[in-house]
Amino acid sequence: MSQLPKLNLLLLSTPVGAIGSGLGGGVELTLTNIARSLINLGHAVTVVAPEGSVLDGIPLVQIPGNLQITAQSQGRDAPITLPANSVLSNCWNYARQVQHQYDVIINFAYDWLPFYLTPFFDCPIAHLVSMGSLTDAMDHIIGEVAEQFPNAIAVHSLAQADTFSFRDRCFNLKNGFDLSQYQFNSTPNNHLAWVGRIAPEKGLEDAVAAVQQLGIPLKIWGVIQDKTYWNHVRSNYPNAPIEYCGFLSTQDLQQALGQSRALLMTPHWIEAFGNVAIEALACGVPVIAYRRGGPAEIVKEGETGWLVEPDSITGLVEAISKLEKIDRANCRLDAEREYSLSAMGKRLEIWLDRIVQSHNLPS
Ligand code: UDP
Repeated sequence: MSQLPKLNLLLLSTPVGAIGSGLGGGVELTLTNIARSLINLGHAVTVVAPEGSVLDGIPLVQIPGNLQITAQSQGRDAPITLPANSVLSNCWNYARQVQHQYDVIINFAYDWLPFYLTPFFDCPIAHLVSMGSLTDAMDHIIGEVAEQFPNAIAVHSLAQADTFSFRDRCFNLKNGFDLSQYQFNSTPNNHLAWVGRIAPEKGLEDAVAAVQQLGIPLKIWGVIQDKTYWNHVRSNYPNAPIEYCGFLSTQDLQQALGQSRALLMTPHWIEAFGNVAIEALACGVPVIAYRRGGPAEIVKEGETGWLVEPDSITGLVEAISKLEKIDRANCRLDAEREYSLSAMGKRLEIWLDRIVQSHNLPS
């Protein structure tokens, strides 16, 4: 049993999209899962998110304002920018006003402002960093917070932490999912799956190249975040057996994903975690991923999928040919062991306990 008292927590979502839009990527589901996990543990949770957000059964404060541009689409030396009437600054202005009602604020935004504001708040701020190192300005400000508040930073994988100079100060929260929402499917169809934001860093074209060689159909689910990139993939592989199936709710996605023989994960960046890997495993779907970033810490070779030399299409093709060696029941079991809401709840309470304790220390 945890010694942590019941906390009143304010969760601030990503300012790049409303919850439910898909533009916020994995952060949308991560925040929802963390909120549910904390509520299950008896804590009180309020979520602050851009206007238009949808969140079933969790208190939600919707904040108007213009969305933030995604950090991963900018170069390393990109300066920090905010649009006029920024939803990010509006969210944090709200948090500043209500902070005294809460024990801890949890920040899900990979943005400069919440890190910069951390020492100016009376309420401790816990930052769940959702991506690896992307820009010098972000590295610098997160590093300053890590220095001044040694317990304040959590990440999703060791590989993600390793992209930062303050790697040793990162708490590895991994992730957790409401597995009751995912149904195990032991009898898949022939097609393979690719799930994610359609944007260059996610490397969809490699999965398309592999299925073109094999002639196995590939179904694709996710928001088309970069239309130019998507058109580029389609024109480069005009005869690939691919089908774009849209952006689905978790309920519909798990149903469709469960019918797939395997999930292909082909990111070109260091994926911090890769929520879709666990969602696939929870449905009994093996994962074939590049040996890089979060997925390399999730996939157990020969048990829950195969890891492939990064950027190797031949490696993907070989792994697909070995799929029958994976027992789909093992995939589901693995998700239950490490990535349930209760498994993550234990990790969350350790992290929050450290933050509360260090905040209460005399300075
Ligand atoms: N997703 C979804 N519906 C879809 C396709 C994807 O809800 O049709 C969600 C999926 O559940 C996951 C997120 O999109 O939570 C993608 O997150 P991931 O961590 O894999 O990658 P990110 O977008 O954060 O880079």
